Amino acid sequence: MVQAYCVKCKTKREMQNATAVTMKNGKPAMKGVCPVCGCGMYRIGKAS
Ligand SMILES: [Zn+2]
Repeated sequence: MVQAYCVKCKTKREMQNATAVTMKNGKPAMKGVCPVCGCGMYRIGKAS
């Protein structure tokens, strides 16, 4: 599972539907949804 910080919950959550994306600057990131509040989450860097 990929963990990311949720700005709404103000804590780290396990990302749901985490997918690898590439940011505008070409760096890898993970994009997903908070399982608790449903808001979008981002995490910079590849999934470990
Ligand atoms: Zn949340």
